[in-house]
Amino acid sequence: MQQQEPVETIGGASVAELAQCYGTPLYAYDAEMIRRRCRDLAAWDTVRFAQKACSNLAVLDLIRREGVVVDAVSAGEIHRALAAGFSPHPVAGADDNGLPPVHPIVYTADIFDRESLEAVVSHGIHVNCGSADMLTQLAERMPGASVTLRVNPGFGHGHSQKTNTGGEGSKHGIWHEDIPEVLKQAEWAGLMVSGLHMHIGSGSDLEHLAEVAGALERIAVEVGRSLTTISAGGGLPVPYRPHESHADLSGYFQLWDATRRRLEDRFGHRVRLEIEPGRYLTAESGSLVTEVRAVKRMGSKRYLLVDAGFNTLARPVLYGSYHPIRVVAANGRAAAGSPEDVVVGGPLCESGDIFTQEEGGFVTTRPLAPADVGDFLVLDIAGAYGFVMASNYNSKPLPAEVMVDAGTHRLVRARQTPADLIRGETT
Ligand SMILES: *Cc1c(COP(=O)(O)O)cnc(C)c1O
Repeated sequence: MQQQEPVETIGGASVAELAQCYGTPLYAYDAEMIRRRCRDLAAWDTVRFAQKACSNLAVLDLIRREGVVVDAVSAGEIHRALAAGFSPHPVAGADDNGLPPVHPIVYTADIFDRESLEAVVSHGIHVNCGSADMLTQLAERMPGASVTLRVNPGFGHGHSQKTNTGGEGSKHGIWHEDIPEVLKQAEWAGLMVSGLHMHIGSGSDLEHLAEVAGALERIAVEVGRSLTTISAGGGLPVPYRPHESHADLSGYFQLWDATRRRLEDRFGHRVRLEIEPGRYLTAESGSLVTEVRAVKRMGSKRYLLVDAGFNTLARPVLYGSYHPIRVVAANGRAAAGSPEDVVVGGPLCESGDIFTQEEGGFVTTRPLAPADVGDFLVLDIAGAYGFVMASNYNSKPLPAEVMVDAGTHRLVRARQTPADLIRGETT
């Protein structure tokens, strides 16, 4: 008897079953993986999820139950956080070991658009200010508020130039040399600077991220004793490629913990230490399930065309990002046979709609097990900056999202309908 390939799964649920239940393309999240990543960071006083990485309400609810709080970068994200059960104010009694209370939701941005200022004021949300203008605008509406300052330390690092968020080439934060002036401005305006924050890039290596601790400490001394919370920002990398491994999180924590302790000694009071990961908490939990709809040859190159495109997962076309790809036969088992080099593309009328490309748009191939129309391709490590960057380009509906928990699955966002696509439009 011929040996059967194993059934391919996401969080213990069969890929083929998920595809059958919810249709493709489909995002599926493994709840247990998100919990594990939350718990990896338990040493930090506060883990604040940068929800822009994956903001489905079910994900927010899950991380809230893990004791994680959230960052919001827009009025819409404040709305999501409230809908997922986060309180706008510090919860009484949340204070541990003399640490200052945690703000369950923090608005972090370089501007207030009118909606976000209204949302912040009406709910009394704590603000992390990335520009001096935000301080002025906040002071007018919330005199006496405490604020966090986001500082651009003058250097940055990211997995791509587009994810570098420090240095002169970045629009983010208050320039480090302007801090003394901004502190005076805050004082005149009657705002209290209680927090300091830096975020220099996404998916950086920890060596570069570690430089932030020194820069933050210097500026913390300038801010002085009003400071009760420091944030290391996000940017924790995850291994996307087979040869990559997880970073040394405990060494990273120890560096920041030492920084925090020195500040506590200097100020004579406790200082809360936050970390603000997006990617780290959800990237590995998420998979994009697609169906192969055409297989064709262009000269020497073999193309697999699937029903998801950069409208569904934009990272490859934006950054040349790599996602592992699994071939799952229509019967749900791992595809058998020796791998062949293929180009994987989507359905869009756009030649850049290719998942196997490098930064700069160069098309590459991937060795994949043989696939036919009706088989599935699963793009893994797609749980961060995946669904949230999906669009309606080419009038494609946003895909469904599904939460898988120990083999059981439930729909957490319905696939859009044709009616959704034209909602609000008139002729
Ligand atoms: C995007 C962002 C993060 C998260 O970045 P990751 O690389 O996903 O960890 C954290 N903080 C701020 C202010 C951000 O804009």
